[in-house]
Amino acid sequence: MTTRSPWVSYRLAKKTEPSEPVVGSFGGHPRGIRASEWPRCGVCGNAMCHMAQINPGPWLDLGRFTKLSVFICHATGGRCEDWDPWKGANRVVLHPNEDENLYDGPPTVRVYRRKLLTVQQPLDELGLMRRVKNEGMPMADALAELRHDKLGGGAVWLHGDQTPQSPTGQGPMRLALQLTTKLVSFDITPGGMAYIFVDPFSPDDAAGRLVWQGGS
Ligand SMILES: [Zn+2]
Repeated sequence: MTTRSPWVSYRLAKKTEPSEPVVGSFGGHPRGIRASEWPRCGVCGNAMCHMAQINPGPWLDLGRFTKLSVFICHATGGRCEDWDPWKGANRVVLHPNEDENLYDGPPTVRVYRRKLLTVQQPLDELGLMRRVKNEGMPMADALAELRHDKLGGGAVWLHGDQTPQSPTGQGPMRLALQLTTKLVSFDITPGGMAYIFVDPFSPDDAAGRLVWQGGS
């Protein structure tokens, strides 16, 4: 699905200037989700909380999809194992149709103020890793430069690599979004990070997966 270089990432920032492109939002109420289609937790059955929406653009290739939305279960304080990409206690929605005017769904999840996001200049992560290899830059320093909210590039894992494998058996999924608790203090462990992957081998709308790792 994604054709961009896997080594280029775009750091996310709060949008402050009118000239900056809107690439999505963190928090608030999502657009384009009907109440009847609102993701419910596969473990406890409650309506999930919305976290983020990202629009495709030069910063993220979503193939035929028009938006990526991220939801997580907050109903049971983690007992639903919301960190697991396969349990059904989180959801990555790939939208086949754009509907920015659709504002629907349960009010219980309108918990955070919506923050519009923009992106900074693309970052060549391969160049950074070459400095580690050829110039003696400590790997910890290189990873520290990538431990922020970003689109694309490599996942900076807090507790070891948990990249989901494509159910097609063709290889690992590709990082679409790395999300921290810095831009919006989501009601999840401070210092933790969410990693949203898209399966490049699958064309269907279930190709997105979320892995969560808690702060120490
Ligand atoms: Zn749940």
